[in-house]
Amino acid sequence: MNDQELLSIAQQYGTPLYVYDGNTMIKQYQRLINAFDGMPQLKIQYACKALSNLSILELFKNLGAGLDTVSIQEVQLGLKAGFQPHQIFFTPNGVSIEEIQKVSQMGVQIIIDNLSLLEQFGSIHSNTPVGIRLNPHIMAGGNSKISVGHIDSKFGISIHQFPHIKRIIQITKMKINGVHMHTGSDILDIDVFLKATDILFKHAHEFNDLEFIDFGSGFKVSYYQQDAETNIEELGEKLRQRFETFCHKYGKEVSLVFEPGKFLVSKAGHFLVKVNAIKQTTSTVFAHVDSGFNHLIRPMFYDAYHQIDNISNQDGKSRYYTVVGYICETDTFGSNRKIQEITEGNILAFRNTGAYCYMMSSNYNSRYRPIEVLWYGHQSHLIRKRERFEDLIRHQVPIDWKKSES
Ligand SMILES: *Cc1c(COP(=O)(O)O)cnc(C)c1O
Repeated sequence: MNDQELLSIAQQYGTPLYVYDGNTMIKQYQRLINAFDGMPQLKIQYACKALSNLSILELFKNLGAGLDTVSIQEVQLGLKAGFQPHQIFFTPNGVSIEEIQKVSQMGVQIIIDNLSLLEQFGSIHSNTPVGIRLNPHIMAGGNSKISVGHIDSKFGISIHQFPHIKRIIQITKMKINGVHMHTGSDILDIDVFLKATDILFKHAHEFNDLEFIDFGSGFKVSYYQQDAETNIEELGEKLRQRFETFCHKYGKEVSLVFEPGKFLVSKAGHFLVKVNAIKQTTSTVFAHVDSGFNHLIRPMFYDAYHQIDNISNQDGKSRYYTVVGYICETDTFGSNRKIQEITEGNILAFRNTGAYCYMMSSNYNSRYRPIEVLWYGHQSHLIRKRERFEDLIRHQVPIDWKKSES
């Protein structure tokens, strides 16, 4: 879709709003399928914590994807969107044994990432096959907040605890049907990623009942023109040989699983806001928009860079602006950005805002969250409507002040 279409969507539905281009999601999905073409039983499990609107889940279901979930509520969303339980993976971290049991009873593939939970689950349900999440201790991620594979990470069972894992399996007689890793977001160095997969392959031979090997995700997308992204095609090339060798040695074709979130939806998202006011100070020109970190927290939380374009003045001359929100706290979206000349009332587009953007929005400052629109089949579809005042107080329980006085 183009900026003219974005602009008319903003005019039709009002700002702030997230617009998702379904075609971009489909294209990214196809890229993954092509990159790993020919691998036995390739499974793409869409990691829905990136963007879990039911219409988005349905879009991926229709493409043939499975689902990767991290909470029982995400599992419920997946079922509601029409996924079969066996198409869903549950790869949480730090959840209770009760939640794991509940999800397991729904028929979902469980992946456990903790020795204590593995032992507890195995002693009660030794007949239910589970996957285990291993931590290969590889630093693959770019940002320390999103890198989860390092030695002090809370994620996964350390490969150094392998003897302990084996002891639990021996005692409980539980069946391990998959091994899993997820080294965190923003993988750039493919060789580092491959090193982690080698470690996983090595340990996978210790299990007799494997049905899948799950390499998680962490594929990086580019956020600006010169920004690098994971070379999926090269990764596919390099992984193919290794995976075939593994299957051959293992004596069985197991499924190859990935759980991409960001890669599938990030680029599809455009966050549209309106410029409320321009404020010129002695050193800076601020553009105040009708949003803040209540709607898009990644710049403040991760120092994430989102390109900002003035789609109301697409061919205009560029000037420098610091784009800020309306939250009563510092909420800088971008400092000294070169943007097509802005006048009040213009619509700005934040690019690459499909993943982890709407999902992390809140009602801070008692504002409504943005609406969501899906562009699909050359048409816009409202997939989440604007909240209203009642929504802000819906779950509040008023006190009967008179009664408590007596
Ligand atoms: C978050 C997460 C993903 C998705 O990561 P992306 O960087 O968005 O691709 C995949 N697997 C697990 C277990 C996750 O927690």
